[in-house]
Order: sequence, then C-alpha cells, then structure tokens
Amino acid sequence: MFYIIAFVFGSIWGSFANVCIYRLPANKNVATGRSCCPNCNNLIKWYDNIPIVSFLFLQGVCRNCSKKINTQYLLVELISGFSFAICYYFFGISITTLLFFILTICFVIIFFIDLKHFIIPNELTVTLMVIGIIKSIDPDLNNEIFPNFINSVLGGVIGYMLIWLIILFYKKVRNKEGMGLGDAKLLSAIGFWFGWVSLPFILFFSSFIALVSVLPDLIKNKKNLTSQIPFGPFIILGTLSYLLVKNYFI
Ligand SMILES: [Zn+2]
Repeated sequence: MFYIIAFVFGSIWGSFANVCIYRLPANKNVATGRSCCPNCNNLIKWYDNIPIVSFLFLQGVCRNCSKKINTQYLLVELISGFSFAICYYFFGISITTLLFFILTICFVIIFFIDLKHFIIPNELTVTLMVIGIIKSIDPDLNNEIFPNFINSVLGGVIGYMLIWLIILFYKKVRNKEGMGLGDAKLLSAIGFWFGWVSLPFILFFSSFIALVSVLPDLIKNKKNLTSQIPFGPFIILGTLSYLLVKNYFI
C-alpha cells in the first residue's frame, strides 16, 4: 500500500517537474498559470492532466488538436514515481526519505533541462546547496549516507573548485570553455549533500558513463572530441552509481 502511495505521490511531483522542465529554461513562472498544449495553446482540463493515467488514456495525443504529446512527459512521471517508491523501500517513513524525494525531483528537472538546453538553472542548484548544508547541521540524520557539517562544507567548496579548475585548465590549454559553471554548482551541491569523500567517486563515475555513452557516436563519426555534450545528466548518473555502490558495501 505504501509503495503505491509513494509511487502516486512521486508521479504527481513528476508532473510538477514536467512543468519546471518546460518553463524554467523559458524564464516562465512555474508556480502560476494553468498548463496548456504547446501546439494549440488550449488549456488542459484537470482530467487530462492526471499523471501517467491521462497520457495513456489520451494515447499520447492532445484532445484538442491531436498533436502527439512528447513521450518525455510520461517518462518523467514514471521515473519520479518509481524513484519515490525506491526511496521508500530503502528508508521507510523518515526524514532521509523526504530528503531523497526532494533530491529526486531536482535531479529529474536538471537532467532533462541540461540534456536539451545545455543549462542548469541556479534555482535548482542553489536550492540543493541550501538544503544540503542545512540538513548537515542535524547530527542525528542518517550518518551512513550524509556527512557531518564540516565534511559537507568541504564537499561544497571542493565540488565547486574541482570543476572550476577543469574549466581554468581547459581554457589555458585549449582556449575554450570546457565545462560550464552550472556543472560546478551542481557538483558543489552534491558535495554539500554527500560530503567531499563522495566527489572523486562521483567525478570518476560521471566521466566513465559519459565516455561510454558517446563512444558509439565517436566511432560512427557522428561526434568528435570537441563536440559539446551536457555533463549535468552524467553527474547525476554518477551520483546514483556512487549511492548504489556505497549501499552495496554497507
Ligand atoms: Zn493541442
């Protein structure tokens, strides 16, 4: 029963994530204004806006103009729903679960915005930084996952510095912007959340996953070594890998 509740709750937040993914890069307000079809601008009725269910019921097309709805909407709601259920599986009803719910939604939004627009909005990274540092003040929080205050602050600073140094180095050598400051802020936020110890692993996993995923395109000559790829999604996948491996060892 609780799994279903967590899943439904997650898919509702996934629906909100969809709104952010669509509106944040366009600098539109995420809190007000009803959703409308991006094609015909028709307001979406509440019964056509139920996470997952409506998409399946409408068979993925707008009721008004029959234009295909991006499958990403369904994907984001499903990912959020399953992630919330997984958080509940690991941590039950706890502050840790609540924190991972927040992290999940921010990660989902960052993942899809960076993938498409090559930007990571400050609204999300700064929010994560603030929550990351505040939660580390509580010494009774899940010590196996979350660092103490000092490690958290060190993580935040080192996370930013790591990417900032890569940017600086790359600029000196290649005279080009190698990575964005958005990536620096994201890794900083993750440093605040999981401490400086997590950073080498996360950077290694992210780079490894990024390399493996562009390898087919490199071989087929669709990309070369100077092609732009968004790194945020890989930092997120790297963080998930780190958390899974860490959990395995525990
Ligand atoms: Zn429409």
